[in-house]
Amino acid sequence: MTYDFDLFVIGAGSGGVRAARMAAAQGVKVAVAEDRYMGGTCVNVGCVPKKLYVYASHYGEQFHQAQGFGWQSQTAQFDWATLRDNKSSEIERLNGIYQSLLDNSGAQIINGRATVTGTHEVEVNGQRYSAERILIATGGWPSVPDIPGKEFVTTSNEVFDLASFPQRVLIVGGGYIAVEFAGIFNGLGAKTTQLYRGDLFLRGFDQEIRTFVADEMKKKGVDLRFNINVESIQKQADGSLEVLLTDGSTMEFDCVLYATGRHPNTQGLGLEEAGVELKPNGSVKVDSNFQSSVESIYAVGDVIDRMQLTPVALAEGMRLVRHLYTKPDTNPEVDYDLIATAVFSQPNIGTVGLSEEQAKERYGCVDVYSSSFRALKHTISGSEERTLMKMIVDSESDRVVGVHMVGDDAGEIIQGIAVAMKAGASKADFDQTIGIHPTAAEEFVTMREPSRRHRV
Ligand code: FAD
Ligand code: NDP
Repeated sequence: MTYDFDLFVIGAGSGGVRAARMAAAQGVKVAVAEDRYMGGTCVNVGCVPKKLYVYASHYGEQFHQAQGFGWQSQTAQFDWATLRDNKSSEIERLNGIYQSLLDNSGAQIINGRATVTGTHEVEVNGQRYSAERILIATGGWPSVPDIPGKEFVTTSNEVFDLASFPQRVLIVGGGYIAVEFAGIFNGLGAKTTQLYRGDLFLRGFDQEIRTFVADEMKKKGVDLRFNINVESIQKQADGSLEVLLTDGSTMEFDCVLYATGRHPNTQGLGLEEAGVELKPNGSVKVDSNFQSSVESIYAVGDVIDRMQLTPVALAEGMRLVRHLYTKPDTNPEVDYDLIATAVFSQPNIGTVGLSEEQAKERYGCVDVYSSSFRALKHTISGSEERTLMKMIVDSESDRVVGVHMVGDDAGEIIQGIAVAMKAGASKADFDQTIGIHPTAAEEFVTMREPSRRHRV
């Protein structure tokens, strides 16, 4: 049977674009449908604008810290519109790059919302296209719980383009986005409150790291509250938002940012009608080759809800294309072990491998090397910020099974450590590595005595 396309990709985000380009480069006839923006979440309302705003938010304290190094300046003023508009220009530039990358690869871009109308058929703008294979790469969407006043909240989709800078911000949630935006707004000068429903935010991260970050954020001025949630939100005559909290108190804000997770973008996509099995949260069920329960339909990225990270979506897209179109297929499956990640909180978190708690449970006998110190820069910057570094070692094999850091450039540092860990580095390998001086990173090769040993 002949089809209009060999591969029809729905979604031009991280996973979709990578798969489409790689497949087209192999001579595969590819179409990509996109209904919002080229480059998807990461480029438009995710990683890229977020990191630009993180950079922006550091300048306030850096101007201040510069005085310790002899720099004098007038009080610095922050202008939201400049940041927002410069960000938008950069995103537009990136949209253009994504567009031409796809065009040059030979893939056909179809602008519009796609739905799956059969196991080999997709409809966009009323036109139907047949395809030998369909790839679902539709990503995710912010989830906001059903509370009275839900219509007044801002999500990560809107927060980058607020018309004016909110002087009082409430951030609800305790995951990546909430913690990162608490740092951004606080650093840009807003009075920032962050609420988390549990005992301590960043569930799933190493406990010591979570506590340390909470302390550092409080020192920087974030009003961090745990074991509390929002009951309802009301809009006042002057446009401000009155928030009723679960402890009965009320607070007023100019912006309430909900960062309470994301759900897979599968509603109304026609997947269930085509026989594609979904998990209870709406994500597409796939096997290790990203094939769904329907032989001709595949899915990668946030929509399969394994790890919602851009490099993971890219790896899945690449693996899929190699598996389908490179003969013979000698490429390994995506390995979800030891994926390094960073939270661009202030200070940053960088992490790879097991937390102390997970390592204790998995290995029983573990040695923990941990060091907390004031970075050299802050000895005269006037900042009270501290850095934490820790390594977790399986004492039987001497393998390093977890490395975590809170401090400047933690993401940059942990990326290199992740390579060593992937290569199976032992604590002895770290010890035999000569450090780079003076850096914070050298601490990872100079921690000699365990801070504690767990023996089960
Ligand atoms: P997406 O990038 O979401 O792409 C899906 C695309 O499909 C979208 O463009 C959408 O418009 C399109 N689409 C959906 N339905 C249809 C349809 N029916 N028809 C046509 N098109 C459709 N990850 C990191 O690794 N590092 C970070 O620092 C980071 N920061 C983040 C910050 C924020 C605020 C957010 C929200 C996310 C962040 N992420 C980060 C996560 C990262 O953005 C995602 O993991 C990544 O974008 C997933 O890629 P994807 O291809 O699965 O989906
Ligand atoms: P997360 O899943 O990381 O965090 C969601 C948070 O919201 C959790 O603290 C959760 O609490 C809380 N929550 C969930 N439901 C409710 C509710 N009904 N009421 C109150 N709180 C609630 O999601 P994010 O939205 O922060 O980010 C989505 C994903 O995007 C991340 O998991 C990450 O994979 C990716 N991302 C990556 C970044 C990076 O790499 N630097 C940056 C930003 C996003 P609880 O823990 O109790 O369930």
